[in-house]
Amino acid sequence: MKIRLNEIPQDGRAYTFDRKSGELNSILQDLVETRPYDVNFFIKPIGNAYEVRGKIDAQVHEVCSRCGYDFDLPISRQVNEILFEEQEDHRKSHSVHGNQSVDFLGKGPSMTAVKGDIFDAGEYVHEQIALEEPFYPMCGGNGKCLHEDEVREIQRRLENEMNEAEEKTPGHPAFDVLKGLNLSSKD
Ligand SMILES: [Zn+2]
Repeated sequence: MKIRLNEIPQDGRAYTFDRKSGELNSILQDLVETRPYDVNFFIKPIGNAYEVRGKIDAQVHEVCSRCGYDFDLPISRQVNEILFEEQEDHRKSHSVHGNQSVDFLGKGPSMTAVKGDIFDAGEYVHEQIALEEPFYPMCGGNGKCLHEDEVREIQRRLENEMNEAEEKTPGHPAFDVLKGLNLSSKD
């Protein structure tokens, strides 16, 4: 979904993309698969740049890093972006590629370079959703696993099995070492 920025009127234009309108279905396929998503952008020219404000709501498939169960992670990301035209006379090594966002101080708008007044909204939304995916997803959200009891029960059982296996091993070498030490003579 490519937006021609130079066709946007001075007072801006609203864009809505969702599963029904379908423009981003294929590009977001690997992240959201067939789940619903909702993208709302308002793009407005400011000087010789463009401001994008809006929100991305989606659900992505994750596997809980604690219990291993599949779950859908809701993603909600506010968008506050400045699109600026990449200058042709910049040295190649300095060029910012595509939609690579530079987040200044974490707050305020991010900057994204565009080429030829074309904003690739699909690429951008894809990247924004991917950025929200946690390294260690938890099925209950906010670092919580909904199957904590189950996980503990399995861990307890495994520990018991290991302890039992250890007890069954006759003549563990560590016990022979202990027997050999004269622990009573301490003077
Ligand atoms: Zn879990």
